[in-house]
Amino acid sequence: MKYDIKITKVKDSKLSTVDFDNIPFGRTFSDHMFVADYIDGAWTNLEIVPFEHFQIHPASMVLHYGQAIFEGMKASKGIDGKPYFLRPEQHSQRLNASAQRMCMPEVPEDLFLQAINELVYLDKDWIPPAKGSALYLRPYMFANDEFIGVAPASVYKFIIFTGPVGPYYPKPVRLLVADQFVRAVKGGVGEAKTAGNYAASLLPAKQAQEQGYDQVLWMDAHEFKYIQEAGTMNIFFVIDGKVVTPATDGAILKGITRDTIIKVLRAKGYTVEERPLAIDEVIEAHKNGTLQECFGTGTAAVVAHVANFTHKGTTYELPAIEDRKIGALAKESIDGLRALTIEDEHGWIVEAKPQAMVQA
Ligand SMILES: *Cc1c(COP(=O)(O)O)cnc(C)c1O
Repeated sequence: MKYDIKITKVKDSKLSTVDFDNIPFGRTFSDHMFVADYIDGAWTNLEIVPFEHFQIHPASMVLHYGQAIFEGMKASKGIDGKPYFLRPEQHSQRLNASAQRMCMPEVPEDLFLQAINELVYLDKDWIPPAKGSALYLRPYMFANDEFIGVAPASVYKFIIFTGPVGPYYPKPVRLLVADQFVRAVKGGVGEAKTAGNYAASLLPAKQAQEQGYDQVLWMDAHEFKYIQEAGTMNIFFVIDGKVVTPATDGAILKGITRDTIIKVLRAKGYTVEERPLAIDEVIEAHKNGTLQECFGTGTAAVVAHVANFTHKGTTYELPAIEDRKIGALAKESIDGLRALTIEDEHGWIVEAKPQAMVQA
């Protein structure tokens, strides 16, 4: 279905004020944003407008009860200079899975896709050309009834804004294995990309940083035995040549980067196991010299190598970064697919085109 999205363009682009070689992450926003309202059971007021502030009522339900979900995705420039997405429909589907868990309305996939296509095409000059850099998209939805009764809201706002991000070369991260706080519990909302998960993780992350670590390695909420995720990234280990990542069990966010890396590595002939992974097994592998790699994955960093992890006061160092073949291959594969320098065997790469061009 084709939606009627009203487009109002900016009078003066801010693009000339941006230095693509020096983009502060998360603080630079491009010219336009997509906005829509959910009222009386339908999405209406579909518009692309200049990026600007909007008003919110003091009783807006999201500010009180936290029905808020989001996505994080990227558009990049291929070597042909055109704008591309990687698996955009996956982000649409995950947004709707989050919506379902948080008792929020779904955004039809064709509306989501039309909105990101129109928006990215309009602001395509905001995509930094350097490999590994991208236009970051932040689709999000929140409850917006002017009412403070506890109930699922009936009015929602769905917004997509974007901003350029430079290549992200995270320093290898030091992880503190959680032994007190939990991120998510089976039956909870760990699988939803919902704001409250982030709020709940701030104190444990801050305490870990005060002790000299970068991120918390989250463990299962029942026994603190099985590994879940690292900070806001999924986590992979390479043990004796095999790639192992915790199985998504309801408490782990189903990362699209995680899924892409699993499929890329399997296609290259690696064994990738998705299964419960106990911290004791990783420590045992470290002791017998078979723990070869550990890396976190997510849209922003793609791959972040883990330097070491600390469990019950003991720090376990991972091998030198130069020897991390599989993590490096995973990152190269995703950056290369996005840049069109690697063949897209899976049909994951989609050109960003506005509706007018699709029909032509
Ligand atoms: C978004 C997110 C990830 C990574 O998901 P991607 O789709 O790969 O970006 C991992 N863990 C958490 C908790 C997240 O919110």
